[in-house]
Order: sequence, then structure tokens, then C-alpha cells
Amino acid sequence: MTELQSFGLRLVDPHAGVASRRGGAGPSDHKAVTIDGHTIMVPVHTSSAWDSPFIADAPDATGHSALKRGAIPIARIEFPKQPRFYSMQTMDGVPYGHIATLHGADVLATTILQTCIRYESRRKACKFCAIGQSLAAGRTIAHKTPQQLAEVARMAVLLDGVKHMVMTTGTPPGDDRGAAVLAESAFAIKAAVNLPLQGQCEPPDDDRWFDRMKAAGIDTLGMHLEAVTQPVRERIMPGKATVTVERYLSAFEASVKVFGRGQVSTYILAGLGDTREDILSMCETLVALGVYPFVVPFVPISGTPLEDHPAPDAGWMKSILEPLGAMVSKGGIRAKDIKAGCGKCGACSSLSQYEN
Ligand code: SF4
Repeated sequence: MTELQSFGLRLVDPHAGVASRRGGAGPSDHKAVTIDGHTIMVPVHTSSAWDSPFIADAPDATGHSALKRGAIPIARIEFPKQPRFYSMQTMDGVPYGHIATLHGADVLATTILQTCIRYESRRKACKFCAIGQSLAAGRTIAHKTPQQLAEVARMAVLLDGVKHMVMTTGTPPGDDRGAAVLAESAFAIKAAVNLPLQGQCEPPDDDRWFDRMKAAGIDTLGMHLEAVTQPVRERIMPGKATVTVERYLSAFEASVKVFGRGQVSTYILAGLGDTREDILSMCETLVALGVYPFVVPFVPISGTPLEDHPAPDAGWMKSILEPLGAMVSKGGIRAKDIKAGCGKCGACSSLSQYEN
């Protein structure tokens, strides 16, 4: 799985399974693939995927497909099917799939605000991010209202059995950095359906937002460092790097007191310049604080300034994920204990396969 995520996958039938996500916030240009009962996101639209040694045959009548390395079959895989809620639209005529999408096998994911103060300037934008692409292509809307999110969440649970939900957001102007819009959305969703929720935002300036988000119904919190050393952060994400690592650490400490050990997490994109030692040393600090470090191989997204940046080598990823799996297990904050969100889903990184 680690190799598949690093190399990507060539598809004989590009329409197999759920339509792959292109553009948008965070990881993209992937397709969900289920191997041995575990669903992972595998790059399919990136330039490295075109040269991948892994090829998936067109699925047969049962939806299964042969995964080959070169000409040699190595596994039977499955593509999660198009969810039923995708065929519906809101009373005001917005397709449900423009409000939230299926991630992995059973996760509903949305980007509440599809605009971001960081993305508005080329000088400040995170170089890996494509939050504006899906908006420009008309595949989503700029602001999902609490009512729209509640309606879609309820139907995704009823029709497709989604198990938890991830709400991320572009960073709006203001000191709350998106916490307010996450809280109002969570309140509406929880009033409509009992669905574990993860909120994801930058650290707000005032730690009292953590209590407010929890009280509104957010079960777990993601605040994403992306890169762990200041020079790499300033090079890759000049706007977001103005919120320092020190502020992230103090926000982690305060939020773990509210959400609990292992219920706060951070995304770390491996392969952008931080060394293995930098990443593992930051992870030690995070685990000691009770924060789950979700280390993910960087996937270059088409149309971003990093589209030609190579994905990290699978051997290098394994040299991080293996000790990290042992580290989080020892710290008692494994993926399976997380109530909602990316760490629980585990589709963008094979980290959970190294736990226990
Ligand atoms: S790990 Fe997070 S971003 Fe990746 S598929 Fe799962 S919910 Fe989506």
C-alpha cells in the first residue's frame, strides 16, 4: 500500500468506481481503492501515476479488478461504488455532490468555504493546494450553508451508511480562522443526524474556540502543520507559515485538554523538504502532547505550482511510517481509537497499517 501510494496507479478503465476528485482543498487527484478490506486513496491523475508500474484492469461484473505490477497480478482490488446521495440535489437546486463528497469507503467530506485568504495571492498561497480549481470548474459552491450540510449529511447516512464526516475550510479573514463556520455547521449537522464530526482549521487566535467547537458538536479537531520546519513551511506555504510552529504547539496543548488525547490530529506532508529525522522528531513532540501525527506522502496535484514535484520514494516513506506506527501505538493514540476524521479514515496514508 505504501508503494502504491508513492507510485500511483494506471487504470485500464478510468471510469471504474467513484469519480476521482480533482482539485479542491487538501489531497486530490486520487481514486479510492479497496485492498484486503482497507480503502486507500491512490494517485491516478498525477504525472508520476502515468509512469507507475502498477496497473488496474477494468473491473469485472462483480466490481473486482486485478492489480498488476507490470504484467504480474499481485492482488484483487475493488473500487467503492458511486454513492447514492450523489444523484440528489437540494431544494435550491445544488447537486449534493457539490456540497460534500465521499472519501475513502465511508467518510463524508466537505470544504465549507471554498475560498481562502491564503489562496487569494500567488505570493501567499500554499503551493500544493488546489482549493480554487474545483470552484472555478463549477464542481462545488463557494460557501456551503449549515442547512445544506445538514441535509446532505443526513441523506449520506441514510442512503450510503457513511460513518463519520470531515469538515475542512479555506481560511476566512478574521481571528477565528474558520472555527466559527465549523461550529455553526456542526451544530446544524448534529441537529439533523448523529454523525461523528471532525473540524479542520488553522489554530484560532483565541483558545476558547476549542470549547465552542466541542460544544457545537465537533468530536475531533485537525490543525494541519503540513511541513514541520520553518524554512520548508515558508517556502511551500508562505501565508500559512506566518502562524508559527510554536503557536500550533500551544494550540495543540490547549485543544487536547478539550477534545482528549488522540482526538486532535495534524496532517504532515512528507516529501516537501523536511528530513525523515525532522518529521520523526516533531512526531515525538506531538505524540507526547496527545496529538495524532497523520503523516501522508505528498501527492503533486495537476495545476498547482508543485505539479512536477516528485512524490516521495516508497522506501523513504516506510522508513518514517514504520517507527511512527510503533510510536503512536506506544503513545496509546492509534487510528482505530479516533472518533472521526482523516486519522480514522486512514485512506491518504498507510500509517495505520504499521500500528500495533
Ligand atoms: S484521510 Fe482525510 S482527506 Fe484522505 S480520504 Fe480520508 S477523509 Fe479524505
